[in-house]
Amino acid sequence: MALKALDIFKLLPKTNCKKCGNPTCLAFAMKLAAKQTSLDQCPDISDEAKAALEGSSAPPIGLVAVGAGPSKVEIGNETVMFRHEETFHHPPGVGVIVPDDLSEEDLAARIEAIRKLDFVRVGARLNTRVVAVENVSGDPDAFARTVVGVSGLKLPLVLMGPVAAIAKALESCGDERPLLHAASPEDWEGFATLAKEKGCPLVVKAPDVGQLEGLTEKVKAAGVEDMLLDLTGETLSDTLQALTAVRQLALKKKLRGLGYPSLVASRSADELENIAACCTYVAKYAGIILTPFYQPEQILPVLTVSQNLYSDPRKPIQVEPKLNQVGAATEDSPVLVTTNFSLTYYTVEGEVEASRVPAHIAVIDTEGTSVLTAFASDKLTAEKVAAFLKSDEVTGKVKHRKVIIPGYVSVMSGALKEESGWEVLVGPREASGIAKYLKTVWQSA
Ligand code: SF4
Repeated sequence: MALKALDIFKLLPKTNCKKCGNPTCLAFAMKLAAKQTSLDQCPDISDEAKAALEGSSAPPIGLVAVGAGPSKVEIGNETVMFRHEETFHHPPGVGVIVPDDLSEEDLAARIEAIRKLDFVRVGARLNTRVVAVENVSGDPDAFARTVVGVSGLKLPLVLMGPVAAIAKALESCGDERPLLHAASPEDWEGFATLAKEKGCPLVVKAPDVGQLEGLTEKVKAAGVEDMLLDLTGETLSDTLQALTAVRQLALKKKLRGLGYPSLVASRSADELENIAACCTYVAKYAGIILTPFYQPEQILPVLTVSQNLYSDPRKPIQVEPKLNQVGAATEDSPVLVTTNFSLTYYTVEGEVEASRVPAHIAVIDTEGTSVLTAFASDKLTAEKVAAFLKSDEVTGKVKHRKVIIPGYVSVMSGALKEESGWEVLVGPREASGIAKYLKTVWQSA
């Protein structure tokens, strides 16, 4: 269990020597408890204290990297059951399973389809971050060939098959550190030997959680540290129960044998059911989620849920407060006011883009809150908007003096007019009304 600051303080030298960059040992202990510094910053700590603190600060769920280099995916090191308790740290790697029995043409088409699973949402890139190859053909040569083809995607690989086929495919993988799937109670020794020899992370699976814990201990004793647990069950319900139970046992009961990130393969034949299942696994702790589906509409919902859940609930996602131009905006183009909450901003930007009316968007710093929340908490005030409109950033780019404010804050019209001297136009309440507004009201204003 993570120690509290006072428990840590008791183990420190208590000389307040400041060598760690903190004014006191207590200040250092507080930072250590908050995971804002590391133990090695204190050069005078005793070996006993170090051993005690390192043991207690080891993450209950280990951090595992799949792949190598800039595209590697890190998963695990999670500390809470519920996002609101802190935050979820490492978003799952969502990936497509490619079978090794496709024709050359179909494989090329599948690879191209996977390459296109790359999206931008609220200013962030979302993509499938891993790709799996499954040995369904039973032919090690076909598996190795498919792995060579798929590796052109430059995504971390998951190799799914018997150990002999994986060993052959690894010959073409260099230092890519693919994830090997999966060691069972029957064949774990061959997998563990291969994973250790090649320095690859290894997935382990067992019929139940008790056997899984015993198996990870054996694999660890064989020299493999980086493991994932395959918790795929017969049904969504089975998988969900396993994911939840393992997370609880690792975090609350500190079972080190279950302190690894998890992997699930979602293979429902029904498209919608599969999307729902993948989204559920994102919410409930899966570290790697694999699916045979590869169309954008089947993958984007899963990545969207992941993006939403793996953001810090204590810090709203924000964009930079400034005057942005959409399209070829000129000094005669309309100026729309919005807040710097990402979701609000990108919704407005998308609607302005769709209208094809070039425009300026005045992004007000509301500490990442939406229009109504910002207005209710005095973060979106007439004074603030007026100050922005009077800034060189705006006056240097806009000739007219008309501003469009969100319909929800129409009540600030009078004060804003008085403060800024600008004519205030009340826009639609919802962003969906922006295109119509710009094409009709603005163009006749
Ligand atoms: Fe205390 Fe160590 Fe920091 Fe010195 S370096 S103030 S002993 S925590």
